[in-house]
Amino acid sequence: MLSFEQARHVVEEHASRLRPPRREGMSLVDSIGRVLAEPVVADRNFPPFARATRDGYAVRAADLSSLPAMLAVVGEIKAGADVTIQVGSGQAAAIMTGAPVPAGADSVVMVEYASLQGDRIEIRRGIAVGENIVAQGAEAKLGERLLSPGVRLDAAAIALASSVGKSHPLVYVKPRVAVLATGDEVVDVDVAPAPQQIRNSNSYSLAAQIRAAGGEPLLLPIAPDEPVRLRELISDAIHADLLLLSGGVSAGRYDFVEQVLAELKAEFFFTGAQIQPGRPVVFGRLPGSANRDSGGRYFFGLPGNPVSTMVTFELFVKPVVEALAGMSPAKLVFLHAKLKSELKTKTGLRRFLPAVLSGEFDQGEVELLRWHGSGDIAATARANCYVVITPDRERVAAGEWVPVLLR
Ligand code: AMP
Ligand code: MG
Repeated sequence: MLSFEQARHVVEEHASRLRPPRREGMSLVDSIGRVLAEPVVADRNFPPFARATRDGYAVRAADLSSLPAMLAVVGEIKAGADVTIQVGSGQAAAIMTGAPVPAGADSVVMVEYASLQGDRIEIRRGIAVGENIVAQGAEAKLGERLLSPGVRLDAAAIALASSVGKSHPLVYVKPRVAVLATGDEVVDVDVAPAPQQIRNSNSYSLAAQIRAAGGEPLLLPIAPDEPVRLRELISDAIHADLLLLSGGVSAGRYDFVEQVLAELKAEFFFTGAQIQPGRPVVFGRLPGSANRDSGGRYFFGLPGNPVSTMVTFELFVKPVVEALAGMSPAKLVFLHAKLKSELKTKTGLRRFLPAVLSGEFDQGEVELLRWHGSGDIAATARANCYVVITPDRERVAAGEWVPVLLR
């Protein structure tokens, strides 16, 4: 049984060795949220011309050494205009934000510090050379790499790609992640459950998490707690890039997942981590050729309790899906917030407890939800985060800062 940190490192280590997937071209809008598969390079200098950052007057700073200064206005430059004006000594040109600074000028006086008197302006304040101008190429030089493969195309990255004319970036093909829910008591959503049965929710929470992590979910039929059919269904997932099983990994008499995986010659990297919920979580690899590194198919056996399934995905599965999607590996980071009410627990396991993060600005507050353990989907749906309690703590006082994992 590994500690949480050890288990996480094992996963990160494997994720970092995965080779990038195949690539496909796509329009910019369709590529939103996808993972970039080629470098994006500046196709010109940024900005392409010395750019005014204020509305005002383009001047020579030296002309403002004695104040107030009177300058002759020699023209006006709007954004988008082709600049033919030159600014000489004793002259100024009206200029708008985003317009090219004319030759001869070295700074832009804000309109607030100048008053127009006929065709002259009076300026009451000095200025330094370069003020309110972004020099040509200051943000990026022609040919400079602006985005690297592995970046997820969010708003800023899409803005950058469009600014250099990448109308059809190459992105990675999404990995297919097979989901196999197990359990004799589990029926699918459109089946009326008998009194002793429950509906399959794990396949759907996992599908949502897979999508969010950049993968494409592939839901398999529910497997009964019976080794032969379980084995068949696991073999059906052979073409997926990753296999996720839910349920059947605890120590119960009908928990066959590990046994069947072992029969299929699986290699296990860990069988259990010191966390709660999610302690029985299993990570390993089946022989085969689906994965692009060393020949093998990764799988996770996630505990069946719905909250355990969700938490273990977030902690361990997500980095593997992201790596299979071509993303550069990211570390897990926790926010910190003040605990609203005292909390009591037992030592020995790192706990991830459903909670509500509230507050505003730098006053984040977090309150645990009343819940009935890791089967309580209703409480978890009301949560927006998990409070993380280290294994050595059995009491945390109200007002203490605690780590929080966002959901
Ligand atoms: P297990 O890990 O198989 O021992 O399952 C633990 C608990 O999670 C049991 O109460 C199951 O009924 C429940 N459970 C297992 N699989 C699912 C599923 N696919 N959807 C919802 N609950 C499940
Ligand atoms: Mg079960």
